[in-house]
Amino acid sequence: MAPALAQDERLRGLLELVGERNAFHRARLARLGPEELPPLTKQELVEDQRRNPPFGSNLTYPLERYTQLHLTSGTTGPPLRVLDTAEDWAWWRALFAHTLSVAGVEPGDRVALAFSFGPHVQFWAAKEGLQELGALAIPLGGMTSVQRLRTIAEVEASAVMCTPTYALRLLEVALEERLEGALDPVREVICTGEPGASLPAVRSRIADGFGARCIDHAGLTEVGPFGYPCPDSGGLHVYEAEFVCEVLDEELRPAPVGARGELVLTPLRRTGFPVIRYRTGDVVLNTDERCACGADHRWLPGGIVGRADDMVVIRGMNVYPSAIEEAVRGVSGSGEFRITFYSERSGMDEVKLEVELSDGRAARRLQDTMRHGLGLRVRVVPVTPGTLPRVDGEARRVVDERVERWSPS
Ligand SMILES: [Zn+2]
Repeated sequence: MAPALAQDERLRGLLELVGERNAFHRARLARLGPEELPPLTKQELVEDQRRNPPFGSNLTYPLERYTQLHLTSGTTGPPLRVLDTAEDWAWWRALFAHTLSVAGVEPGDRVALAFSFGPHVQFWAAKEGLQELGALAIPLGGMTSVQRLRTIAEVEASAVMCTPTYALRLLEVALEERLEGALDPVREVICTGEPGASLPAVRSRIADGFGARCIDHAGLTEVGPFGYPCPDSGGLHVYEAEFVCEVLDEELRPAPVGARGELVLTPLRRTGFPVIRYRTGDVVLNTDERCACGADHRWLPGGIVGRADDMVVIRGMNVYPSAIEEAVRGVSGSGEFRITFYSERSGMDEVKLEVELSDGRAARRLQDTMRHGLGLRVRVVPVTPGTLPRVDGEARRVVDERVERWSPS
């Protein structure tokens, strides 16, 4: 079935189902009507769970039908409890298995999962997607980086899944501990959880360091594994028979072609904890171009280019930390970094970038790159390699110390 036809039919079915059985969406549809249903925020779901503890009212089926529970890993506010039925979880597994096969994983491959076992969906979906595909999942939770490197070498893992930040960390530890050879069997590094692996400079640094392909994919606890990598053109494709995909501007209108906007998704067949027009917070480039690979699924060139809530307005310019990261990773010999947004006494907002550089002269080059490439004045402070904090999962590299002001409304 063509994606558009499948979408229409499935969307009608979903709206009918939630209108009958799901208290949260029934109330929303009755209040707002399906025609002008505004995009749904995580905050609304969190608020619903606060009022109807512990699982909220966004449940299409009786509680006994649900078999999986995961928490969102948001940086702000309380986490959301997201439930899946066995059918919804089978849907996750199948989509994830497809994503992994597009990424080059084959039955019989050994894939190391460099995550902690936690309440977040990432690890569990990866593990079960691998099993669906017939690959061997090698859990590396609860291990130090050195133990992980040794395990990768001993079992001869053909692929590693982790965040892009952690991929870079693993390379650093391999160098420090003289364990570079440990990564020899790895042919693929499959990244998720941060925009990093979509940034060309980050991706090529990971690929060069591992001597492997670096591949991105995307998913979200609230919506599912929506994006698979395009092996030909880069970036991501969205499974359009499974998700209605919109890109909206800051006023929540369709973003113009060629502009960036927030990705808004409606999963069509995950019905137990459904979200309709869900604001993912992921920023993507809106294009009407079809991908040269011939896929009839929507293409997101460059994948996820940032997070909407990471965007900071500095002197009237929209600044994404991911753009600064891209500039940093383009400098050879650069290490960890930290971005601080702060206010000068004059009231002017400024950006400070502390970055580990083996060559202090690179600071000047970096400053020029950002001025010319991003049109942004940044104070670059070189620091000694190895001195900024390291993390094992998603990085927190942004500090916002700006003075809050009255908005001119
Ligand atoms: Zn493509």
